[in-house]
Amino acid sequence: MLREYASATPALSSLGGRRGSTCRHGIRTSTFDVNRADMLKRARGQKAPWAFVVIGGGATGMGIALDAAARGYRVLLLEQSDFGKGTSSRSTKLVHGGVRYLEQGNISLVMEALKERGLLRQNAPHLVNDLAFVVPSYAWWEAPFYGLGLKLYQALSGKYGFGKSQLLSRKETLQRLPNIQTDGLRGGVVYYDGQFDDSRLLINLAATAAARGAVLLNYAKVTQLQRDQEGLITGLLAVDMESGRPLRVRARVVINAAGAFCDSVRRLADPKARSMITPSQGAHLVFDRSFLPGDSAIMVPHTSDGRIMFAIPWHGHTLVGTTDSPIREPTLEPVPLSHEIDFILSTARLYLHKAPTRADVLSAFAGIRPLVKSGEGAATAALSRDHTIHIDPSGLLTITGGKWTTYRHMAEICVDQAATLAHLPDRSCSTRELRIHGYHRQSGQFGPLAVYGSDAPSLQRLTREQPDLGHRLHPSLPYTGAEVLWAARHEMARTVEDVLARRTRALFLNARAALAMAPPVAKLLAQELGRDAAWQSRQIAEFEKTAAGYLVTGV
Ligand SMILES: Cc1cc2nc3c(=O)[nH]c(=O)nc-3n(C[C@H](O)[C@H](O)[C@H](O)COP(=O)(O)OP(=O)(O)OC[C@H]3O[C@@H](n4cnc5c(N)ncnc54)[C@H](O)[C@@H]3O)c2cc1C
Repeated sequence: MLREYASATPALSSLGGRRGSTCRHGIRTSTFDVNRADMLKRARGQKAPWAFVVIGGGATGMGIALDAAARGYRVLLLEQSDFGKGTSSRSTKLVHGGVRYLEQGNISLVMEALKERGLLRQNAPHLVNDLAFVVPSYAWWEAPFYGLGLKLYQALSGKYGFGKSQLLSRKETLQRLPNIQTDGLRGGVVYYDGQFDDSRLLINLAATAAARGAVLLNYAKVTQLQRDQEGLITGLLAVDMESGRPLRVRARVVINAAGAFCDSVRRLADPKARSMITPSQGAHLVFDRSFLPGDSAIMVPHTSDGRIMFAIPWHGHTLVGTTDSPIREPTLEPVPLSHEIDFILSTARLYLHKAPTRADVLSAFAGIRPLVKSGEGAATAALSRDHTIHIDPSGLLTITGGKWTTYRHMAEICVDQAATLAHLPDRSCSTRELRIHGYHRQSGQFGPLAVYGSDAPSLQRLTREQPDLGHRLHPSLPYTGAEVLWAARHEMARTVEDVLARRTRALFLNARAALAMAPPVAKLLAQELGRDAAWQSRQIAEFEKTAAGYLVTGV
């Protein structure tokens, strides 16, 4: 039984890519290609049931695919759009224990997340870094009050600690936050948390999973769940969104990791299934670096609506967020609401000496939290941020909620449960010490290519071979043509948006610059993917439509 559903140590030649292969430009690469055509072929070629088919290519689904593949189970992941198109590219970019949950007294949740924070920095040092967060104090009680809480936060991290929390004088606060509002400033408290690039981590998780035999397919939407006479799910039907062709697969267990869309997937099995989640939207605004010079972030522990807000240096810009607005239905491309933009701006103005206006917003983006329902009428800020695993009578396993930070732990628990449900022999989880693709301890030496970690030298070689690929595609952002080719060749980017939103972060950093980059990106992609001029024009038009949602108008 085990042999049927477990992959033998996969022969590299049979996987979605090659190690040390020679690519079209004659450059030897040390990376692992994640190639969609190969993935599709393997998905179609598998006749026996997969041990697990995962619906959803966000942090939760990709973590599960990696965990399952690393244990040797045959796993297929299907994502309706691009990997990370959902919430997993739209986070606040924090790898954190969650100071807010500490305030709520949820010590175990905080401890678990702090441990995962440490493991993530250990396994993906090229993408996760320590960041100093300063809580500025304007009232006499704030520094001792938050100082005590943040000491506890530090203590709870135990051996996974990041840095020492301490009280700051007014002068020290100003040294760390040169642009902080000085009126009434008394001092502050500094503590440390992690910061990362969410969609880059996701794509590196995909490469790690693919290297262990996982089959991962973007642009494959699940449209039907198939059941046997007893009503148990035996497989599903998906549509290859590129060709329109159906893909039928069988599975021992189908895992629903569709995030904010998990209820619609559950309704494919049971149209009367009651909603598990309440969707809530969180918006962020991005400004240039001058609004937050220095290397520290600001944490505002209590906004006027009782939330926490952050202003964070990220990829040479300033990221401010977030909000919590209940919404009716999740959409793949949520747009920040006008009142969310105003709220972030007015809160930022209370703390930043250089007050931002609408005209300063370079990009605005929103993500949807799949908050697990605790009962009727609860405010969304109070609903559970912890993850939930639910098994429907049809055997559909749904996992939702949680945080990016805890994706690995969620995956471990989920695969344990799925293996039991599938009557597969236990195999222990091996992701605690597993290095994530790109692992590099000193990737800062690669400058703007630091996020590529161990792949960076291959990108540099590409530029040496073809110097025209080394030019910036826009003067405001560091991205080059080499990164576009790399994304198409090794990271399964299929569209202009994949490149500009999730392989690079251009759209999230500066929407107008991203719009200007769309034509050259379309041209490079078309050459690499073998597409014609009509495809390029359609891609540019589609990207313009999407990017319009990231622009903020007015003053
Ligand atoms: C505003 C905001 C800020 C956040 N900040 C942080 C933070 O700083 N740190 C942190 O740790 N966590 C943060 N989180 C939480 C974290 O981002 C989420 O917990 C995590 O990204 C959820 O991942 P997911 O895979 O469950 O969902 P998603 O990323 O949404 O993935 C679900 C995927 O399922 C796909 N899908 C849906 N239906 C189908 C179908 N029928 N067929 C195929 N695919 C389908 C979707 O296209 C989507 O890509 C934040 C969340 C929000 C909303």
